[in-house]
Amino acid sequence: MPKTFNPKISKLSRDKEWMPEGCLSVRPLYGKTWRSKKATVVAYDEDGKKFQRGASGLLAQIFQHETDHLNGILFIDHAKDVKEEKLS
Ligand SMILES: [Zn+2]
Repeated sequence: MPKTFNPKISKLSRDKEWMPEGCLSVRPLYGKTWRSKKATVVAYDEDGKKFQRGASGLLAQIFQHETDHLNGILFIDHAKDVKEEKLS
């Protein structure tokens, strides 16, 4: 994947599922989020050329998590079963 500027979600699958999720910004909180199984992002590379990248599974979840951050949203704003988990 090239360097990515101004990414935006362009497409989300209607098919969703609860996924376990955490974030370095709110460690050690973990919960479950209702995420689309597939997501497509439109962004610009370092030459200003538009490109698109689709993903499913974990990468689709990451697209949604990270673009949420760009919009000021943390996963705990919409997650369920949020709790502290101590990782050794
Ligand atoms: Zn995060």
